Amino acid sequence: MRGGAAEMEWEDGVLARVADEYGTPCFVYDMDVVRERVGRLERAFGGRFLVSYAMKSNPNPALLARFRDLVPYLDVSSGGELALALQHGWEPERISFTGPGKRRWELEAAVEAGIGEVVVESVEEARELARLAVEQGRVQPVLARIAPARLPAGFGVNMAGKPSQFGIDEEEAERAVEEILSLPGLALEGFHVYSGTQSLRPAAIAENYAIFVDIFRRLCGRFDVAPRKLIFGSGLGIPYHEGDAPLALESVAEGIVPLLDELAAEPRFAASRLVLETGRYLVGEAGYYLTSVLRVKESRGTAIAVCDGGMNHHLGACGHLGTVIHRNYRMFRVGGREAPLAERPYDLVGPLCTTIDTLGHRVRLPDLTAGDVVAVRCSGAYGATASPVYFIRHAPPREVLVERVDGEPRFEEVSMLSSRAVTAEVP
Ligand SMILES: *Cc1c(COP(=O)(O)O)cnc(C)c1O
Repeated sequence: MRGGAAEMEWEDGVLARVADEYGTPCFVYDMDVVRERVGRLERAFGGRFLVSYAMKSNPNPALLARFRDLVPYLDVSSGGELALALQHGWEPERISFTGPGKRRWELEAAVEAGIGEVVVESVEEARELARLAVEQGRVQPVLARIAPARLPAGFGVNMAGKPSQFGIDEEEAERAVEEILSLPGLALEGFHVYSGTQSLRPAAIAENYAIFVDIFRRLCGRFDVAPRKLIFGSGLGIPYHEGDAPLALESVAEGIVPLLDELAAEPRFAASRLVLETGRYLVGEAGYYLTSVLRVKESRGTAIAVCDGGMNHHLGACGHLGTVIHRNYRMFRVGGREAPLAERPYDLVGPLCTTIDTLGHRVRLPDLTAGDVVAVRCSGAYGATASPVYFIRHAPPREVLVERVDGEPRFEEVSMLSSRAVTAEVP
């Protein structure tokens, strides 16, 4: 997100050109914003954290290829993601693999590729992985994922303190780690915690990291392990909704840096790499979803703008990606924002034959007519690949990447979903 009239004009101009040249529905990714976010993370924590990109937030190959030079690590969540990452040039040593349901072939592929770490989510999984590694005559580095008993208030998603498929319960951790350490074929290289996400509260995030540090310290001390790597599932949130204040990263840093420095001063942790694993913070605000108004109808006193894309491409914006109530994503009409004459509330719906295909309720926008383009913010993470794109067989969204070159926007179409899978003839 950028401020200022000049930035707004740039944004409007870029999005209008994309809509014009590539058509809608379309996701647009601004690489300059992604780069800026990476830099912000590094600066805020003074380089104490190395960054790992959680690929599932946006697996677009063009992004993946660029991330290779931007962050040291990549976290994949399936064999399919692993294959895509390898195909796009990621060195296996830089890849970690999380996920509660890794199949045998996926574990085999990970061992065979020689990936950096498999993040084991249960003792059962560790046993299976150990057998496979021994069969292949390898020693597979692993991190044990621990599921904390507690998450501070203020996270949009909470995985802690309740039955969970993710990770080894903190309460069981000692017994589990003891067994993992005894398994042939595995080398326990550290720990991983990701217990909540989408927090905009610096104090809650810092407190959560303190919980992680406590767990890491306790387990490493108990088993006399000097961990090579400790992964912090970042929890960093982005301002999806009107009235959300952007996350003050500096305040997160203020709250946690002293503790990180204390940890690093202990001999056991002197050589440990601390890794911040995040998806949405890096790519979420870099992305827009563009959809065109097909027609506007009045129905019983409400203006309804029917758009060419909706839930099929953007489940999250329609409120169906793990939220209880639907709150509108921030959105605007492309063009004419500098002089918003009359605004009025619109219900924005997609083209699907279902009532749940609603992008926004009573969104205040300038006059909409057929052909107008609406841009939905915070659409760079959990967009097309987290949505039911095949539902009702509309064409999948296009994807366009924008980079500033010599002050001018350079566009590249990077669509990853083929319309051929949907229908034979979509213009
Ligand atoms: C999804 C996921 C992330 C990224 O979460 P964001 O909310 O996008 O930052 C990080 N780590 C793991 C293990 C995940 O599953």
